[in-house]
Amino acid sequence: MTGIAPRLEQLRARIRECEGRHGRPPGSVRLLPVSKGQKPARIAEARRLGITGFGESYLREALDKMNRAPDCQWHFIGPLQSNKTRGIAENFHWVQSVARSKVARRLNDQRPADLPPLNVCVQVNLSGEESKSGVALADAEMLCREVNRLPRLRLRGLMTIPARVAEENAQRLAFRKLAAEFQRLRRMIPEIDTLSMGMSHDFEAAIAEGATMIRLGTALFGARKG
Ligand SMILES: *Cc1c(COP(=O)(O)O)cnc(C)c1O
Repeated sequence: MTGIAPRLEQLRARIRECEGRHGRPPGSVRLLPVSKGQKPARIAEARRLGITGFGESYLREALDKMNRAPDCQWHFIGPLQSNKTRGIAENFHWVQSVARSKVARRLNDQRPADLPPLNVCVQVNLSGEESKSGVALADAEMLCREVNRLPRLRLRGLMTIPARVAEENAQRLAFRKLAAEFQRLRRMIPEIDTLSMGMSHDFEAAIAEGATMIRLGTALFGARKG
């Protein structure tokens, strides 16, 4: 398998080009490499290229990788079970998949006092698909307000994984809904700064609609194992 350096360079060029095409300031979109299902050697390679933050979906898998790269920033982006919150609160810098107030309270209570507050995005389920986690768009504000009141959490914004569609206009329609809600919330909670949307197959549509963070796995690292 070839190294990730050429893919990283190509992706950065596509992001820059896309920012320009849609009137976004250069550098306004952050690429979060998603390393779930990838071998630690891939992470080491990414770190040699200057990458310092990674997204992971499974606690156990992530802990092993964190031990090898303790100076990196780790984002938990997977489904959150109540019995996993302690390990997440103790080890991650961000959690992008908060969708229930009970989980938010547990993360708050379990965040160690000697660490800075845990950065949180509320995950929104735009499509109403049962298989996808996230709060309904109509409930996002209430959960955001609740997270914002918890002292050991720092609300950063919204995250979504929309239904997979191929057509760019359909992708943009879903992202536009979340972007509108993000702008509305930001008028009430000006500290929020993160609109995390867009994956390998739809990140250009997400950038067009205002994403500030795109989460790329396969486009950067290649196919995942398992
Ligand atoms: C796996 C995953 C990604 C990356 O998906 P790719 O299609 O490989 O880019 C992004 N976000 C979340 C929440 C994921 O679970």
